Amino acid sequence: MSAGAVLALQIAAVALVAALIVAVIVAAAWVGAAVHDGDVERALGAATVMTYERAAARMAGAPAPEGKADRCAICLSEYAGGDELVRVVPACGHFFHAECGVDGWLRARRTCPLCRGGLWPLP
Ligand SMILES: [Zn+2]
Ligand SMILES: [Zn+2]
Repeated sequence: MSAGAVLALQIAAVALVAALIVAVIVAAAWVGAAVHDGDVERALGAATVMTYERAAARMAGAPAPEGKADRCAICLSEYAGGDELVRVVPACGHFFHAECGVDGWLRARRTCPLCRGGLWPLP
């Protein structure tokens, strides 16, 4: 084997290793994003849509960090009644009218519109 051929093989080997490293990094980033999106969809599942009455009862046991829970922070109107459907942020328990577009906010920002906390409690 000539010196030129050996050099070409070495360059090919280095390029192959570099490509493998890039592939692993891309795959890891993709898996990470997929898990994160799964968390968001889990936070936006049927389990976090409930009646105002239930959501308010959940909040009653927890300290309210700011604001009152009788007003939707998105449309700023008071909740009409006990069986109005609201979306609850799992991490902090804050809730908003299910119809006020909070799902779009949560998908885009992944934080609570009221307290800016994450959707899920930190591990
Ligand atoms: Zn609202
Ligand atoms: Zn919150």
